[in-house]
Amino acid sequence: MYTVNANYQELQGSYLFSTIAKKVAAYKEAHPGCSIISLGIGDVTQPLPDAVIKALHSAVDEMADVSTFRGYAPDLGYSFLREAIAENDYRARGCEIGADEIFVSDGAKSDSANIQELFGAEDIIAVCDPVYPVYLDSNVMAGRAGKYDPAAGRYTRVVYMPCTKENGFIATPPEKAPDIIYLCFPNNPTGAAADKERLQEWVDYAVKNGCVIIYDAAYEAYISEENVPHSIYECDGARQCAIELRSFSKNAGFTGLRLAFTVVPKDLVKDGVSLHGMWARRHGTKYNGAPYIVQRAGEACYTPEGKAQIRDLIGFYMENARIIREGVVSLGYEAFGGVNSPYVWLKTPEGVSSWDFFDSLLDRCNIVGTPGCGFGPSGEGYFRLTAFGDKDATKEAVMRITKI
Ligand code: PLP
Repeated sequence: MYTVNANYQELQGSYLFSTIAKKVAAYKEAHPGCSIISLGIGDVTQPLPDAVIKALHSAVDEMADVSTFRGYAPDLGYSFLREAIAENDYRARGCEIGADEIFVSDGAKSDSANIQELFGAEDIIAVCDPVYPVYLDSNVMAGRAGKYDPAAGRYTRVVYMPCTKENGFIATPPEKAPDIIYLCFPNNPTGAAADKERLQEWVDYAVKNGCVIIYDAAYEAYISEENVPHSIYECDGARQCAIELRSFSKNAGFTGLRLAFTVVPKDLVKDGVSLHGMWARRHGTKYNGAPYIVQRAGEACYTPEGKAQIRDLIGFYMENARIIREGVVSLGYEAFGGVNSPYVWLKTPEGVSSWDFFDSLLDRCNIVGTPGCGFGPSGEGYFRLTAFGDKDATKEAVMRITKI
């Protein structure tokens, strides 16, 4: 007789987006013909860059010819893509990362969920609060997070690191060191980005205390400020303590194509065991490689045309971010983010909860955003607005808020 993984019973329902969907559906039913604008989506809306489309077409043609057809891709990724990544994302920024330290995959979501398999069942994880939920939930499934305490709204074996206005939404290293630290910069949902000094502090802390940092840099392409590192490997010592996750989703619009990579440096060795070797083994055992045509599309992102088109795409979304940020600030709201990220993190007016603000914005402006409390207790009193929409709709949304 089989049993089920009881850890799944500890998962909290994905309450946030389903509740939003239900509220919006109910509102539409009660107000037929209303025109709702969503500033809540975390998905891109603009078409793929032309260089990517061309690469896809040409790779599809190769698959149609017996002499150029490809079957299974190498587990860890084609060397043409791993080389392009190592050269452009790392060596060009002065980071010593070899192509053989790059593991190509189908998404940063799956990588960020799977990476915890490399660590001991009793290891203590630390997550930022608020947080992208995957880091926490994947550890809950693995039994590492302990029990959920409904009164506290927290798991018993997890260290929550509050990210508040006071610390600039950048967590401070906990007094008692955890084992595994999840960091994400530029951050979803707060839009905060750690500068070089703050990130170096984290790396020094991890090296001193023997922690590993799982660094999610999915929004790296949105960095606009000089002193913000694009990779954790810009910090001294990071090769000894950090794993970096990257994605083609938010820079080149691959959310529907699926392509990402994880960097596991060979210097990450614990008790004589190489994490690089472990991740290679995991990849080889559980994964059969990202599709050839998608890896060719990824390679095209590093051509001069691809780079220029991606810059334009980012520029498009960041203009939306500017419109939203400046719009809400001009109305007297406190707003953060939107400078190095496509997310604007708005402080709700005094005494107005995240959900009350959601209801009010939906009701009075027909605008949908995301209540900050859905990302963790410290998100209460905040609201996430995203820049991934259409330009006219974004302008219209800000106009509607202004009118009321
Ligand atoms: N990491 C963060 C912080 C995200 O916000 C997202 C998507 O929203 C992802 C990872 C997922 O990336 P991918 O599309 O490569 O799975």
